[in-house]
Amino acid sequence: MYDLETIRNTISLAALAEEAGAKFDHPHRLISHCPLPKHAGDRSSKAFTIFDNGRKWKCHSSCPADANGGDVFSFYMAWKDVDFKTAVVELAERANLAPNSQPKATARQAEIAPAPTVPEPAWRA
Ligand SMILES: [Zn+2]
Repeated sequence: MYDLETIRNTISLAALAEEAGAKFDHPHRLISHCPLPKHAGDRSSKAFTIFDNGRKWKCHSSCPADANGGDVFSFYMAWKDVDFKTAVVELAERANLAPNSQPKATARQAEIAPAPTVPEPAWRA
């Protein structure tokens, strides 16, 4: 299982919201129009806020009550329309965490052969 607190401490909720389309005027004043797709109605008002040192979010306008507010997981669920389990797995991947919280093996890097540091013998000959 993933360590949820590690994911919460690793993933920036504000950065995630910006990726979803939120635009914050100021890094210390995290207020934006609501970026969530389930937000019904007016998007011109700055109804979306991030608080609690960047750990919690809330839409004060037209987001459905069952998908409004919480932490980075509930934001991801509301944004991507996925269940909690999927949100945990995908955010853990973003945080580069393996299920046991060990640093993830660099599988992607291993697929790419390292550039040779010395010329091939055939080239030198
Ligand atoms: Zn909303």
